[in-house]
Amino acid sequence: MKQNKNLIAYCGLYCGQCPGYEGKIADLARDLRKELRRAKFQKVAHGLTKYFKQFKDYDQSYELLGLMVKFRCKRTCRNGGGPPFCKIRKCCVKKELEGCWECIEFETCTKLDFLNAVHDDGHIKNLRKIKRHGVSKFLQGKKYW
Ligand code: SF4
Ligand code: SF4
Repeated sequence: MKQNKNLIAYCGLYCGQCPGYEGKIADLARDLRKELRRAKFQKVAHGLTKYFKQFKDYDQSYELLGLMVKFRCKRTCRNGGGPPFCKIRKCCVKKELEGCWECIEFETCTKLDFLNAVHDDGHIKNLRKIKRHGVSKFLQGKKYW
């Protein structure tokens, strides 16, 4: 995929790496649901619960796949994608910064903390790289997610 600086989010994550942007998981979930319906697999799964207890979760799993079908975001962070309440984006826009890498506070900023649950310190590693080497070098190299 062509690297694009507009895909670098304010927080340092790269939208081009986001499963929501890539859309592959959503496509596969949609196709699997379609195939399960075609095969009338719900009845099979319910019938097999006697032998495989995991099939008891079939309906829940089908619902979960439905949620994953909706897991798409083509807009990207800079075009209003992602959570509309994001304090990081609001803060960068207010400070007129390209991203948190231009801010002296990013190593200790608590606004970034909510990302840890999904990304660990991936965004911080990216911010350090962008700060140290610049946007072009960052785009060419490894990005953390
Ligand atoms: S919306 Fe916020 S958390 Fe999401 S990518 Fe943009 S800056 Fe990062
Ligand atoms: S204070 Fe700095 S590091 Fe924190 S969200 Fe705002 S720009 Fe980013």
